[in-house]
Amino acid sequence: MKTTKHFQTEVQKLLDLVIHSLYSNKDIFLRELISNASDAIDKVRFEAHSNEALLEGNSDWKIKLVADKEAGTLTIVDNGIGMGISEVEENIGTIARSGTKAFMEALKEVQSSNNPELIGQFGVGFYSSFMVADKVTLTTRKGGSPEAGCRWESTGDGTYTIEEFEKPTRGTEIVLHLKEEMKGYLDEWKIRSIVKKYSDYVQYPVAMDITRTEPAKGLDGKVIEGGGEIEKTSEETLNSMKAIWTRPKNDISEEEHEEFYKHISHDFEKPFRSIHYAAEGVSEFKALLYLPGHKPFDLFMQERKKGVHLYVKRVFITDNCEALLPDYLRFVKGVVDSSDLPLNVSREILQEDVQIKRIQKSLVGKVLSSLGEIRDKEPEEYLKFYAEFGPVLKEGLHFDYANKEKLQELVLFESTATEAGKPVSLKEYVARMPEGQKEIYFITGTSREMVANSPHLEAFRGKGYEVLFLTDPVDEWVVQSLSEYDGKKLKAVDRGDVELESEEEKKASEEKKKEQQEQYKGLLEFIKGKLEESVKEVRFSSRLTESACCLVADEYGLNANMERIMKAMNQDVPKSKRILELNPNHPIVKVLEEMYAADSGNPRLADYCGLLLDQALLTEGSPIKDPLKFTKLVSELMVKAK
Ligand code: ADP
Repeated sequence: MKTTKHFQTEVQKLLDLVIHSLYSNKDIFLRELISNASDAIDKVRFEAHSNEALLEGNSDWKIKLVADKEAGTLTIVDNGIGMGISEVEENIGTIARSGTKAFMEALKEVQSSNNPELIGQFGVGFYSSFMVADKVTLTTRKGGSPEAGCRWESTGDGTYTIEEFEKPTRGTEIVLHLKEEMKGYLDEWKIRSIVKKYSDYVQYPVAMDITRTEPAKGLDGKVIEGGGEIEKTSEETLNSMKAIWTRPKNDISEEEHEEFYKHISHDFEKPFRSIHYAAEGVSEFKALLYLPGHKPFDLFMQERKKGVHLYVKRVFITDNCEALLPDYLRFVKGVVDSSDLPLNVSREILQEDVQIKRIQKSLVGKVLSSLGEIRDKEPEEYLKFYAEFGPVLKEGLHFDYANKEKLQELVLFESTATEAGKPVSLKEYVARMPEGQKEIYFITGTSREMVANSPHLEAFRGKGYEVLFLTDPVDEWVVQSLSEYDGKKLKAVDRGDVELESEEEKKASEEKKKEQQEQYKGLLEFIKGKLEESVKEVRFSSRLTESACCLVADEYGLNANMERIMKAMNQDVPKSKRILELNPNHPIVKVLEEMYAADSGNPRLADYCGLLLDQALLTEGSPIKDPLKFTKLVSELMVKAK
């Protein structure tokens, strides 16, 4: 029975975008359909290892294109796995596979960036057929299954029909009823050039019946004078089918890399770099990896597509082998073709397999050393790459202890001594540390603007000490794992005590500090009493030279940035109080002392204690408790001080 159904709202949105020319390059519809057909053949070949019935005796793998000029249709036929009726509904009528959320995100980005090609990353795949067709008919049947075949049809206008359908052969057939102005896609040369350009490396023959007219020939093979012309039809394979990664490295042109990369990554730009090598010895495999030039929209999403496809002896196994690369290298795309793994490996086995572990080790080593080389030889290029993927690469410092040595040379940070967008490596930082500086200083926060003006930096600036700006959320974890570099401790400027002075200076200043602490003991205790709910101690600071006050965390306590991150992750933030540090040389301290000495019951004094805390919170970018009270007090002061 034929039923009419509505597309999921998101699908219809996507279809509208596709139909109204989301892609400027319409040719790619054929690439998408051929790629789907090739995936479907990969699948049936793979599954047939454990279930031969799927094959139904048909393993002459082929993707056939049929251009019918009279009917105005272009048909793509495959003998791949095919789909059952529920699979068609799931795969074609909904956006189940990548998650509606990811799609909506992509859509938002497309709309805001005004870059329609972005959606290409999302791999609209099958739907791209509606760029060239005003009606699409898909018939399909799953091999070795008792389920009947089915037929799906739509004009892309909100609904589709679906019905059971007798289909003798396994696989999928897609008939595109071409729009009038798209009939050029029936032209043999057009099809030939698109296949050559986009699908040359597809492993299966992409074939087409080609009809040629030639002069009639006699039995002797000679042309018969005046014998007229005859039509001859023969099937031709349009692609070379050479798996690009099996070819010698130097044979592959940049264009070929580009097309292959676009095919496996759904990216619309060329790759940043390719890494192509063959491993021999204990583990034999070929790897062709790509570093993308820009980050995909789903880099930080759980359901993102995996990057490296696994083949065994040129047979596709999976594009979802998690064990092949660690998560922090999830931006790497490419192919690994192993000679050692059995063809019938299962997902579970892959996770634990020692061969895969060996491959992983080798791939990670290769990627990291390639990055190291780019950093050394082409620092400008490395910066571009790092701007896109630095925050992801840094995760490695936390999760991949074995490669810590390499990774710590690859990470970069901006600092008090760099311009925005020109980060430094730890090596450079250490090389220019002035004499007397013993530790590597850093400050964490959400942006350069925020940390660059922090009062915590004042004394460091005064000493000429560079302070690294750690402004990626992951940095908090990075510094926990990377506690020292080149024998020097990494030290947060807003935590614990800082020692910026030489032994002698320290002695002198400590005595002075003691004196001040003694002299202002009453005041400090008074302030602490007033702010008891918010701070756990009030003391004089050796960090401040200009500002009146700042908040600091204990050596191991939560700092403001960590609190923000935890809140953003919807985690409960443990109640922790920090220390309010005052600048003993700031006029405010003198004023407070005078007021305190004159009348400690003066209500204004309590208000000023609150203002001190608010100042400290505001300068570090934290919210204050009572903004209304704050503005009222400041307004009063302004009026008074006119
Ligand atoms: P993608 O290929 O990126 O997954 P598509 O929209 O092109 O997205 O296809 C959705 C799904 O429909 C595929 O993942 C696959 O499961 C199924 N599919 C599409 N074309 C075919 C085909 N020719 N044979 C079998 N399954 C197919």
